[in-house]
Amino acid sequence: MKIGFIGLGNMGGGMAANLVKAGHEVHAFDLAEPALAHAVESGCIRVGTAREAAAAVEAVVTMLPAGKHVRQVYAESIVGVAPVDAILIDCSTIDVASAKGVGGQAAEQGYQMVDAPVSGGIAAANAGTLTFMVGGTEEGFARARPVLEAMGKAVIHAGGSGAGQAAKIANNMLLGATMIATCEAFLLAKKLGLDLQTFYDISSKASGQSWSMTSYCPVPGVGPDSPADRGYQGGFAAALMLKDLKLAMAAAQDADASVPMGAAAESLYQAFANGGGGGLDFSAIIRMLDAEGTKS
Ligand code: NAD
Repeated sequence: MKIGFIGLGNMGGGMAANLVKAGHEVHAFDLAEPALAHAVESGCIRVGTAREAAAAVEAVVTMLPAGKHVRQVYAESIVGVAPVDAILIDCSTIDVASAKGVGGQAAEQGYQMVDAPVSGGIAAANAGTLTFMVGGTEEGFARARPVLEAMGKAVIHAGGSGAGQAAKIANNMLLGATMIATCEAFLLAKKLGLDLQTFYDISSKASGQSWSMTSYCPVPGVGPDSPADRGYQGGFAAALMLKDLKLAMAAAQDADASVPMGAAAESLYQAFANGGGGGLDFSAIIRMLDAEGTKS
């Protein structure tokens, strides 16, 4: 297929490279020259504008920072520019309202568009092992699926337009809250004199078990290999967790949902980012909680 790809940053760069590896012709555009040059090294075809990337292709994929970028790029460069039978796929993590708004505008012009945010970080984008949560019609999902399969290990239809973003932020709100709760449990166990490996051995087989504990343990040297074992470098940046928690809080307000644990997680990640932790993996919040406990 001929595919236009707009937004070739940390995630989009690896995703576009995997489309090339799968045999697609990728017309790539990014505002940042280094990102574009890197994509060209991976076999993408350089184009000069987002409009050129969207013109005369069978699919358009976008991987942009936030809702305002997605709204602008679709309004100015994709809707009305891409052939009307091209499938439009936004993989960015954005607010549900923008996803529904842009999807609705595309549908009014006769396009099939899906929101398809990802689970998995830069390593999964490079390896082609992302999970895609897809919002859109059955037809949109069926048409997006082969494109997404070239970049991921799982492609799941979440529901209508905006449902992919809804699934993503609800999941990440749960992840943020369980990570903090897991950190707290380890710190309490330590203060109570328990050996942390012993606590892990017990809790990982007891009712407190969660993915944050058994797949991504925040304590160095305990559980499987995780960013904690590498000084909290790499992994999923706390700043991105904070972004997702803010999206979840905005969506909860719009939907009148009660999310006190999510709100607490947002304010704790905000404090962690304010203290300079935004670039570290999100499990590093254990350091802030530990330091606060030491003070009191
Ligand atoms: P990034 O900042 O590295 O990349 C975004 C790219 O978009 C940049 O290269 C930027 O130049 C480009 N861009 C911005 N405006 C543009 C425009 N108008 N036209 C063309 N290009 C434009 O960000 P990223 O880490 O690749 O993340 C992209 C999206 O994926 C975000 O929504 C993020 O929340 C989500 N996400 C990221 C991760 C992660 O681990 N990095 C994981 C899951 C989801």
